[in-house]
Amino acid sequence: MATSDSEVDVVIVGGGFAGVTAARELSARGRRTVLLEARDRLGGRTWTKDHDGHPMEFGGTWVHPLQPHVWSEIHRYGVETETFPVLEGLRQAVVSDGRVVDLSDDDAARALEALDQFCAPGMTLFPEPFAETLGPDPDGLADRSLREQFDTFKAEPALRDWVEGMCCTIAFGPLEQSGATEVFRIYALAGYSAEQTMAALSATKLVKGTRELINSIAGQATLADIRLNSPVRRVVQSDGGVRVELESGETVSAPTALIALPMNVLNSVEFEPPLSEIKRTASADRHAGAGMKCFVRVKGDIGNVSIVAPEAQPVNWLVTYAHGPEGSWLIAFASNPDKLQMTAFDDVRGMQTALQPLLPGVEVESIVGWDWSNDPHALGTWCIYRPGQLAKVLPELRTTEGRLFFAGGDSSNTWRGFIDGAIESGYYSARHIHDYLT
Ligand SMILES: Cc1cc2nc3c(=O)[nH]c(=O)nc-3n(C[C@H](O)[C@H](O)[C@H](O)COP(=O)(O)OP(=O)(O)OC[C@H]3O[C@@H](n4cnc5c(N)ncnc54)[C@H](O)[C@@H]3O)c2cc1C
Repeated sequence: MATSDSEVDVVIVGGGFAGVTAARELSARGRRTVLLEARDRLGGRTWTKDHDGHPMEFGGTWVHPLQPHVWSEIHRYGVETETFPVLEGLRQAVVSDGRVVDLSDDDAARALEALDQFCAPGMTLFPEPFAETLGPDPDGLADRSLREQFDTFKAEPALRDWVEGMCCTIAFGPLEQSGATEVFRIYALAGYSAEQTMAALSATKLVKGTRELINSIAGQATLADIRLNSPVRRVVQSDGGVRVELESGETVSAPTALIALPMNVLNSVEFEPPLSEIKRTASADRHAGAGMKCFVRVKGDIGNVSIVAPEAQPVNWLVTYAHGPEGSWLIAFASNPDKLQMTAFDDVRGMQTALQPLLPGVEVESIVGWDWSNDPHALGTWCIYRPGQLAKVLPELRTTEGRLFFAGGDSSNTWRGFIDGAIESGYYSARHIHDYLT
């Protein structure tokens, strides 16, 4: 629906899960919004792209019943889910001491026990993972990097390497730049259980892709005027309201605005008056999530594999997406893309070299995916705070500034860094904006 400025209650900047959920929630409260999205699609860091006959998720993928907000949306719209990766015949392995070590079911269970042990010190830090406050921290865990925490961890080599590889995959950035809090928090949210942590992170996806869910939510944002290809350049606040200026030169004004941008992108919009120093510093420092996820087509039937590798390796998790005699699609996760030594995102030869330690002899044919860290509208992958950022940044990122409200998966109190957190922040901000306007 098209809306004239005088009728708009809220300008929403950003059409990821946070912004779109807020638009629907505000519609439900009778509030008119204009949602400005820079891209030619909704969904932001989730993006279902059809390729080679498959709906591939270039960004956010996995969901789980332990994530209450996204799960409730899945039920609300009757979105179909499936187990992924397929467990039948799944070969699990870890790269340890330069060799691929296959994991029996018993080994896999022991690997989970090792992850439980690794996460145990963080349990006191998150006694109530859905609450805003941290628990006691006599050892200064909140300021520790995952690398520092990992250096204190003892386990037999293959299990240690598996836990390190999982930490790389969760952090999706160099371990020395990622806060130990981030793994501890996810573990706490998953009921202080390594098994449930793994399930929440990588067991269930949407059959038709995340686009079905975001489109369902957007479809009920009945009082929202959704404008794609509308990058915002400047946001000016005055006593009378907020004026949002687009790159195109157009403006949209309203009594309030909801900024639903990634943390790393906040500084690419000019705010007048400027945002708080903490928000600006957080955006300049960025969170640590800067890895590379891509779909790799390889020759032959690789079967169902899930291979984990520690930080020294360029690829830290390799999992089958689809396979058959005509070839296989694997998903590769590299927490530190510098280690890949690829000349470009689709450098087949570079990826082939990077995969050898995990799948010796594998022959790469093509690569598809998206370079989120160099995407100007994301500047990073999922949100993983740096050491110390949790306490400094989180409370402030959501704090209202005058007529500006803030939402995003990067500032959720709950499943931060996940689709669930983005949806939660959409609920939260819409409620607060409605109260403000009432
Ligand atoms: C590779 C990858 C894998 C992931 N895997 C998972 C997973 O398995 N499970 C999970 O739950 N989560 C996953 N995530 C995280 C999840 O995708 C995000 O946490 C969530 O989608 C964030 O939603 P958001 O609305 O807060 O931000 P975004 O989705 O980033 O939305 C922000 C929007 O703002 C727009 N924008 C930016 N600048 C401007 C501007 N100037 N003007 C107007 N619009 C602008 C962007 O285009 C974007 O659409 C993954 C993310 C990535 C990148």
